[in-house]
Amino acid sequence: MKTILITGAAGFLGSHLCDRFIAEGYCVIGMDNFITGDKKNINHLLKHSNFKFITHDVTEFISVPDHLDYILHFASPASPIDYLKIPIQTLKVGSLGTHNLLGLAKLKQARLLIASTSEVYGDPLVHPQPEDYYGNVNTIGPRGVYDEAKRFQESITMAYHRFHGLETRIVRIFNTYGPRMRLNDGRVIPAFMGQALRGENLTVFGEGLQTRSFCYVDDQVEGIYRVLLSNYAEPINIGNPDEITIKDFALEIIKLTKTHQKIIFKNLPVNDPMQRQPDISLAKKLLNWVPKIGRQEGMKKTFDYFKNLSEEELYKSEHKDFSNHIKK
Ligand code: NAD
Ligand code: UDP
Repeated sequence: MKTILITGAAGFLGSHLCDRFIAEGYCVIGMDNFITGDKKNINHLLKHSNFKFITHDVTEFISVPDHLDYILHFASPASPIDYLKIPIQTLKVGSLGTHNLLGLAKLKQARLLIASTSEVYGDPLVHPQPEDYYGNVNTIGPRGVYDEAKRFQESITMAYHRFHGLETRIVRIFNTYGPRMRLNDGRVIPAFMGQALRGENLTVFGEGLQTRSFCYVDDQVEGIYRVLLSNYAEPINIGNPDEITIKDFALEIIKLTKTHQKIIFKNLPVNDPMQRQPDISLAKKLLNWVPKIGRQEGMKKTFDYFKNLSEEELYKSEHKDFSNHIKK
């Protein structure tokens, strides 16, 4: 039986990956410090005989007694609001955390896959974004803490691959959504769905002409699974190229949720990318992967999840309290 360590296991993507690898017959070790994650995402796995959970901050030295075949490094705040509120933790988990995991992978002779992001392209001047585009990132802007941590993460991973011959994989994940996203994480899909459910107006930032391309979680997990098992060490984009403006997307959510609320416009956050769409030719060619779940189907499944949350969760304070995790 193969053993895989998944960091960020209590988060949105990490928990879906734990489910997938358990279903594939792996022994899964989840690791998380719950800074942006939630235990409820993995509660259903805790009694599973092939699942083990370790509470740990990956920016501290990591010791795992078990043999490891694979490591997936998914620990990192991922929403712009989260990483603006915990900028130092974001920089540390992408840099020190990745360094620790590379060391662990080297010790265990395990293959390490890191979760990179379309944010390495910044506010892109090339559209759609292929893997050989170097990006347009403001290093000192508010999003720089995330973007640069992820760019460093890619660099150090490639250095371990080239210098130590470590088996590594890099996935550049484009906006992914689905059940288990945190309703109050500030990302656009939980934000709009929470607003619709609470009977509030939908907050579109700027004029809403910026674009995103949303990928359903099951498609993303399938793509990550194929990248891990491929023999390609350089970055691969995984996302759904179906691009939409945020204003049109808000109108779709109004229709889906049948809310009587309307759109209100708020200031555009600093350095908010104006366009984003993955070029997935490489994933198609190397992995024979294409997304299968369209926005209508994926949004319906996601809304069904949010609709079933308790009133308490729906009205829980707007943003997570990080104070327990911040070292004084
Ligand atoms: P998430 O916030 O739901 O999950 C991240 C998890 O990592 C949380 O459970 C959090 O508690 C944990 N974590 C953070 N810092 C940690 C630390 N120092 N030690 C241990 N655990 C820690 O976010 P997500 O959307 O599931 O994102 C997961 C990964 O995928 C991140 O690396 C993110 O950058 C990447 N990614 C996600 C998307 C997306 O659209 N969801 C897009 C691009 C990249
Ligand atoms: N956005 C919005 N209203 C919200 C939240 C987000 O208009 O309440 C916009 C945001 O400015 C960005 C897009 O939606 O242009 C996607 O934002 P998200 O935070 O989900 O992720 P990003 O792709 O910016 O990392």
